Amino acid sequence: MTSRNQDLFEQSQQLIPGGVNSPVRAFRSVGGTPVFFKKGLGSRLWDVDGKEYIDYINSWGPMILGHAHPEVVAAVHQAAANSLSFGAPTGLELEMATLINQLIPSMEQVRLNSSGTEATMSAIRTARGFTGRDKIIKFEGCYHGHSDGLLVKAGSGLLTFGEPDSGGVPASIAQHTLTLEYNNTQQLADIFNQMGDEIACVIIEPVVGNMNLILPHMEFLQTLRTLCTRHGAVLIFDEVMTGFRVALGGAQALYGITPDMTTLGKIIGGGLPVGAFGGRKDIMQVLAPLGPVYQAGTLSGNPVAVSAGLTTLKLIQAPGFYDRLAAQTAKLMHGLKQAAQKSGVTFSAQNVGGMFGVYFSDSNPTSFAEMMLTDKKAFNHFFHSMLDAGIYLGPSAFEAGFVSAAHSDADIAETIQAAELAFAAL
Ligand code: PMP
Repeated sequence: MTSRNQDLFEQSQQLIPGGVNSPVRAFRSVGGTPVFFKKGLGSRLWDVDGKEYIDYINSWGPMILGHAHPEVVAAVHQAAANSLSFGAPTGLELEMATLINQLIPSMEQVRLNSSGTEATMSAIRTARGFTGRDKIIKFEGCYHGHSDGLLVKAGSGLLTFGEPDSGGVPASIAQHTLTLEYNNTQQLADIFNQMGDEIACVIIEPVVGNMNLILPHMEFLQTLRTLCTRHGAVLIFDEVMTGFRVALGGAQALYGITPDMTTLGKIIGGGLPVGAFGGRKDIMQVLAPLGPVYQAGTLSGNPVAVSAGLTTLKLIQAPGFYDRLAAQTAKLMHGLKQAAQKSGVTFSAQNVGGMFGVYFSDSNPTSFAEMMLTDKKAFNHFFHSMLDAGIYLGPSAFEAGFVSAAHSDADIAETIQAAELAFAAL
């Protein structure tokens, strides 16, 4: 007997490429049929066949308060009743800019748009316009959305500029992007030594969540800051994932490093499409209508999306919010490690705030190369055992996981119990 879920996937594949609107959702990495959902509440999800799950994806980060939080839903209702969109300024946008600036003071000026991809794309254009330079640096394993210049992999040698990492990206665009190794301070210093004055900007996930979770070495981030300042390159922290996730002030507050520009997304929309980029006022002043760098959006600053984000940002400021979130996530990591140990499975795990990484490896990886050495097959087995038991993890060994404020002690205990069985079955 086929399930409603399988039916929907088969039909979707007829009309939507791969049956999904974003590739990772297709379960290609882990195999099997993706889950089609119809409802979420707090830490829980229900699929179209009525099966219940504890959610550790949380829409890839935005649902930090859990699903359908009543205050966020009420804010959306209220905003919607006053019109879904104006395409003109509102006081809500000023409120949002004010709040972002208070929580992340390096964002002296902010512009809102509708996705993380737009935020990083626009930040890079702004940095190029400000410096009058074309070249950009990014790091292997970091993801900054799907704009052309960021879907680029390293060329054959250290000084060779990038090659397209996706069909449809012209080599003439990829050649302006240099891809370096994350946490490789020496390589970074060498490149700046040789061409520092040609670099418009460096874009980095200050904590990486897109090759599973990788923490930065403090020395690496400090050197990056120093080199960018010395050579007049704009340092962009892509905090689309880490913003309001690893700490209230993002990774920059956690590590005490101030970037020139920051990109945000996910949590600032509370589950609706909002992105933002901002930074030093002198840099942001190159944007149209003040300056020559063009950037725009019909739905930028959309009142319904901004209302959901504003309510989310207000609620996460509650005293103790991040302490509890981090403690809950750490408790889950501890339990998973103990469960793996019981079955003698090689496993490691860590978290930063409400973001976590689990690895089938004897220690926490610190680079893309180390991440590639983790046991993907073991992860895939573990993933499917957990899914069967109603625990919804990211469908790839190379994705970070997310805990929300709605995850209770009982949720964590149930997850660890399921993991004990999943490890034992490996
Ligand atoms: N930057 C980072 C660090 C991200 O994690 C993502 C999405 N996962 C993006 C940019 C792109 O954001 P979006 O999917 O909203 O375009």
